[in-house]
Parts: sequence; C-alpha cells; structure tokens
Amino acid sequence: MNAGRRQQYLDAMGITRYVLRDEPAAAGDGQIVNEAEPPTVAHQEMPAVEVQPQQTEEKGGAEAWDVLKAEVAACTACELHASRTRTVFGVGNESAELMIVGEAPGADEDRQGEPFVGRAGQLLTAMLHAIGLARDAVYIANVLKCRPPGNRNPSVAEVAACQPFLRRQLALIRPKVMLAVGGIAAHNLLDTDEAVGRLRNRVHFYGEERTPLLVTYHPAYLLRRPEEKAKVWQDLQKLHGMLHGG
Ligand code: URA
Repeated sequence: MNAGRRQQYLDAMGITRYVLRDEPAAAGDGQIVNEAEPPTVAHQEMPAVEVQPQQTEEKGGAEAWDVLKAEVAACTACELHASRTRTVFGVGNESAELMIVGEAPGADEDRQGEPFVGRAGQLLTAMLHAIGLARDAVYIANVLKCRPPGNRNPSVAEVAACQPFLRRQLALIRPKVMLAVGGIAAHNLLDTDEAVGRLRNRVHFYGEERTPLLVTYHPAYLLRRPEEKAKVWQDLQKLHGMLHGG
C-alpha cells in the first residue's frame, strides 16, 4: 500500500507509527506500533488494499428483505418497543462478504434508525477504512434492533426475542466472514461468557452455516482505552486475510 495512504488510515484509527532509529530513512516503512506497546513488537505489513466500492451481486431476494424490514419495524416482541424512537434494522451491502455485529442501538442510532452512527460508529468506519473497506461495502447490524433504555445491557429475553431477525439477516446476506464487536455481541453469538481478550485471535464459527467469525473489541471500548487499538489493528489484519482468502 502506498505509504501516504496507509498513514491516513492509521491516523484515522489513532494508531501511531514509529520508524526505528537504526533503520535507514530511505527504507521508508518502519514498524507500526502503538504508543502503549514496546517498539520491539512489529505488526505484519498490510498488503496493498484500496477502499472497496459497494458490490453489486445480489444474494438474498428483495422481497425477503422487504418482509423482514417490515417485521422489524412493527416488532413488539419485547418491552423495548415501548421506549424506542425507531427500530435500527441494519445497514450496508446486502450481498456483503463481511457482516459486522454490534450490541444494540445507542441514543444516536435510536434517533437516526441506523447502526453505528455515533462516535463509536465513526471509529468503526475508520477501522474498516484501515483494511480498505468502505462502510457501504459491508453489512452492519446489532444483536438488538431497539435501544435498551440508558444503554443498559440487553436482557436474555430481549436477545431471544430479537435473535431470529439477526439469523434471517445472516441467511439473506450469507457473508464470507462475520466480525463480532464487543463482549455483548460475542457472548450472544457464541453462547459463551469468555472475555473478548480470550475470544479474539481465533476463528469461531456461527450458526448452522458455520460462518467464520472473528471477535474484536467494541469501538466504544477503544474510545475509552485507546491503548488497545494495536490489538484491534492485529484483528483487522487477520480479518483482511480471511476476506482475501488468506
Ligand atoms: N454500539 C453498538 O453496539 N451498536 C450501535 O449501533 C451503536 C453503538
């Protein structure tokens, strides 16, 4: 990848890049390390990638999507319907190779009806750009389609009521890879309570289709703990490799 472009992506993610002092300046690319990491930790070189435009091949039928969207918009299966402003269905390329699953809408998403539009969403978009993916090239959804009041954690009953919607989205999209961001998404998708730190770095498989699934930290967590961004950068490189057959 062009060094200037890569620097732009890393800047957007807030990852600092240092060039080792004993490397000749003309070598150009130094190790990419986060401020919190010892400079001996080298991150793998990213292959050349460009931000991908939206794909056009359609997988799920338009009618099935319309039915599903209408069902979500009218859903009263759990108590969250009473406090929501809008349902937050999901957004992006319905034929995407990558499906990202977050936790639940927050206040911004509840107002706008779109997942990941607040500060955490902006960071997620930057993370995608870091591996050459435009936001509209992927599909983004949440475990819950309605905001839990005060952004509390989803209850077991709420997740159970909403889960069929996510499964139907997945069945229509048939992505090559899923990415669960944060513990709530990972725990509910994988039916585990292991910490994200232990779930990342491995390939899991979701559902009957056994869709390969990676876990990484939630962008809202990264806003509070920017020193963890280097780990997410590693996760993104793994994700990039899986998307490109690596
Ligand atoms: N956090 C999430 O998990 N999902 C959103 O849509 C917004 C914030």
